[in-house]
Amino acid sequence: MLDETLGDPQCPPEVRELKDRVADFVRARILPCERVLDSGGPDAARTLHRLRREAKEQGLWALPLPVELGGQGLGLRSYAHVAEAEGASEHGPAALGSASLLDALMLARHGSPRVRERYLAPLVAGELRASYAMTEQDAPGTDPVLTATRAAETEDGWRLTGGKWFVSGGDTAGLVTVLARTDGRPLERDGLSLLLVPTASPGFRVVRELPVLGAAGQAEITFDGVAVDADHLIGERGKALAVAAERLQLGRTLRCLRWLGQAGRAFDLMRERALTRSRSRGPLGDLQLVQRHVFESLLALRTTRPLVHEAVSRLDAGADAHVEVGLAKVAAARTLQLVADAAIQVHGAAGLGPDTALPALFRTGRAARILDGPDELHITSVARRVLRTERV
Ligand SMILES: Cc1cc2nc3c(=O)[nH]c(=O)nc-3n(C[C@H](O)[C@H](O)[C@H](O)COP(=O)(O)OP(=O)(O)OC[C@H]3O[C@@H](n4cnc5c(N)ncnc54)[C@H](O)[C@@H]3O)c2cc1C
Repeated sequence: MLDETLGDPQCPPEVRELKDRVADFVRARILPCERVLDSGGPDAARTLHRLRREAKEQGLWALPLPVELGGQGLGLRSYAHVAEAEGASEHGPAALGSASLLDALMLARHGSPRVRERYLAPLVAGELRASYAMTEQDAPGTDPVLTATRAAETEDGWRLTGGKWFVSGGDTAGLVTVLARTDGRPLERDGLSLLLVPTASPGFRVVRELPVLGAAGQAEITFDGVAVDADHLIGERGKALAVAAERLQLGRTLRCLRWLGQAGRAFDLMRERALTRSRSRGPLGDLQLVQRHVFESLLALRTTRPLVHEAVSRLDAGADAHVEVGLAKVAAARTLQLVADAAIQVHGAAGLGPDTALPALFRTGRAARILDGPDELHITSVARRVLRTERV
């Protein structure tokens, strides 16, 4: 990464060395395997397994996970710098063991003793994969009070019926946390609960894969009367949205950091191409309209990073971070899309072909504007809060 150009001036010296080691691991070990990892299937699983072993051997495994859960206890503000380097590849968090952070924290804070005892260690060790399922085909994901998946109370737990889609990793997960209505009626905010569902349970089914702009990774799943033990309720009955909000705020912020890493990678590719691709009158980078792509991309990167780190600081301090996370999420998604698009343009046809990571980076940037809540949701929510509280 061109740190001297893209800059990360806030990165403390004691974190710099770790960030560099992670960046080296991503560059040398993960990037060459991206095509295999993207393909899914047994080769991808074997490669991921090998990368995880190497990450553990190099002391880079599960850096932000709390020590008591089996991680290395790197605090959020320090990890934020490392997350950019790790996230330069979509596969970085899975290969380096930080992909379990949200689920591990949620289970540690809101899971029953049995749930914690049974699932936390394998989750953090990378032996068990978890997914999170809120979005449904027939109800807007932006309006969870319309959730139609239902869980009826039984003698010893719940019976879950319904379906979810666009569940990341839903086809390979061992556990899925499912948002379901346990009480009340549609439109009521209370009455939604989170249930932890082992995917080996009878009645759980992966219906199909849902490629996003051609890329694998999302699934549609259904629950046909799945029995869920009473102690697999996560958080309080009927209060799922509070747990979901806590999870989503940190989740969005981590994604922003990873998107920054990917935007930095697209920027590097653009810069390299502008310098090395020569026309009869010199390199592409001599052309002012190419220089404009470089300028706009650098501006987007440099103005987005402080917004994302401000969100990190407020979350870390336990302060209200709705405005900061909303700003960061919209800015980081736009930045990744803009920089990947500019880099594709500077590459010409090669930018759309199979020989660079640019199509994948662009795809992630496009999806970023929808997942974890579309841009519009954050724009209106930030504006409403600022108008109400006068906090800018
Ligand atoms: C790659 C990817 C991974 C995903 N992973 C997961 C996952 O792991 N788990 C999961 O549960 N979901 C996941 N999702 C789903 C994602 O979170 C939802 O798609 C998203 O929240 C939007 O919900 P929706 O698709 O139902 O769109 P809708 O709610 O139907 O909204 C459609 C459009 O309406 C407009 N709109 C909606 N609300 C407003 C508003 N308040 N103001 C103005 N305009 C508005 C926007 O243009 C929006 O894009 C994933 C999606 C993608 C693309």
